[in-house]
Amino acid sequence: MKRALVAIERCESYSSEEVREALVKICEAAALPSVEGKKVLLKPNILSDSPPERAVTTRSEVLRELIKLLWEKGASEIFVGDSPSISSSHFSPRTSGIAQVCQEEGATWVDFSKDPKTYPIPWSYGHKYPLAAIIDEVDIIISVAKLKTHQLMYATGAVKNMFGTVVGLHKSACHLRFVKRESFARMLSGLYSVVKPHFAIMDAIIAMEGPGPSAGSPRYTGLLLASNDPTALDAAQGIIMGYDPFTLPLTAELVKRKLTLWRNLDEIEYPLLKAEEVVVENFKRIEIQPKTNLFKALVIPFFTRYLKFYSQKREPKPLFDPLLCIGCGKCVKICPAQALTLTEEFKIDVDYKQCIRCYCCHEVCPVDAITIEGEG
Ligand code: SF4
Ligand code: SF4
Repeated sequence: MKRALVAIERCESYSSEEVREALVKICEAAALPSVEGKKVLLKPNILSDSPPERAVTTRSEVLRELIKLLWEKGASEIFVGDSPSISSSHFSPRTSGIAQVCQEEGATWVDFSKDPKTYPIPWSYGHKYPLAAIIDEVDIIISVAKLKTHQLMYATGAVKNMFGTVVGLHKSACHLRFVKRESFARMLSGLYSVVKPHFAIMDAIIAMEGPGPSAGSPRYTGLLLASNDPTALDAAQGIIMGYDPFTLPLTAELVKRKLTLWRNLDEIEYPLLKAEEVVVENFKRIEIQPKTNLFKALVIPFFTRYLKFYSQKREPKPLFDPLLCIGCGKCVKICPAQALTLTEEFKIDVDYKQCIRCYCCHEVCPVDAITIEGEG
């Protein structure tokens, strides 16, 4: 029976030599599947095409060494793609350096938003979403994630990274339909059952702590990770950040839905370093919020409006700093609840009664003008 393997290795910098050495080791230890003669899709985390030093995106240096390694192992074609929520057509990740790496290393950049295909997503009340068509055209998919915090799911990771296969602003529609953390995690699990990467790598050399996934601070952790089970990689990420992985709604949901190669944490094997050995001290995590309890779940059908308002009031809310805001309107465009208005003075008005606390606005703000009230 296939076992969940998580390989963790120290990698002190983004120098090509160090990344290469660590990558070879973790890919071997975590049983990278054979890519010989195969078409491979790499899915880095390009939430927004940000400069590398902000730690928002998977670093291009990791991607470069991975592409080189896959060519050496005989891959026939290598594609790299993503679809940030707000991006123009013909998006190409220049600022992060990823476009240049693709060009120099002979990989093909794919904008997922071109000619998507619609797929039904399990456990999402029969909803269908347009996904990147290329997921059906390749033999191997590798999630190339970044170790980062996330306001809604507490941690971004190898599984959540695949949400990028839902094209562009359709991601906002998902947030509007699956408002609570638990239901959003359920939808992500359904998506994962459709787009299941065969392997996952995580760039944690410089991670992100604090109010991620876009406005946090870079945090040096000096690690590269790989796994034959993206869910196990995310569990290891949780431990490194200082969480009990079962308190992370997505990981708990994946285990419940039997989408993992493991049921208990002691079934995850660590052929190199163990996650417990590399826990980052005082890592600035997102505080875990109380779950919707059974009583509320039962009465919701009867008191939906009241409880929606009540439960939203308990969630931290986005605050907009008018001194930092540059009036770009990106938050208004992405807000699935239409809770935001750009005033004539180019400032943001918020209707907190409409706000569903999805934090999409926080993710896309280019100048960190949005903070989440209640974060530590
Ligand atoms: S204001 Fe921000 S957090 Fe509230 S619904 Fe809109 S995008 Fe989501
Ligand atoms: S995304 Fe940020 S900078 Fe742009 S309008 Fe919204 S708050 Fe202002």
